[in-house]
Amino acid sequence: MKKVEDYIRSIPDFPEPGIIFRDVTSVLQDAEGLKLSIDEMVKLLDGVDFDVIAGAESRGFIFGMPIAYALGKPFVPVRKAGKLPCETVSQSYDLEYGQATIEIHKDAIKPGQKVVLVDDLIATGGTMEAAAKLVEQLGGEVVKMIFLIELAGLEGRKKLAKYDLASVVSYD
Ligand code: 5GP
Repeated sequence: MKKVEDYIRSIPDFPEPGIIFRDVTSVLQDAEGLKLSIDEMVKLLDGVDFDVIAGAESRGFIFGMPIAYALGKPFVPVRKAGKLPCETVSQSYDLEYGQATIEIHKDAIKPGQKVVLVDDLIATGGTMEAAAKLVEQLGGEVVKMIFLIELAGLEGRKKLAKYDLASVVSYD
């Protein structure tokens, strides 16, 4: 039986020379790969008590939404700056390559709510650290962060040491 890692395609020198990009489109474009990846991410939440799933644009939407649907929870999009129509809080951060600002609607998380953050992949941890700060600015508590893929060599886990973090597939 195939495992999630069997569906992940590795692209050398994308988007810059020296970077191996772990491509998840190859997982999603296979019906069994898609189902397996979501099922495995849902398993990472076994026994976790939470109220809301939040996912980072845009691959965090792809994986976060079906998990929220499967577990009967609401989904909150963490979007790139300037996309959300209502009042927002925002946070800037450094990427593995470049800089970015993300936002969340002020009314998306209620004080005291337990939030699970989802993304396709953790590299340096900058994206998730910024997303966690947004949740915390609104009085939410990040109870878990889950990823399909972890690039362990980039030590995002160290940056996010105060959070409970889990991934399905890890690369050195
Ligand atoms: P970080 O903020 O942890 O350094 O980078 C993670 C973010 O960059 C995620 O939102 C992820 O989608 C994107 N990213 C960085 N490297 C890769 C990669 O090799 N593959 C994929 N699919 N996404 C990546």
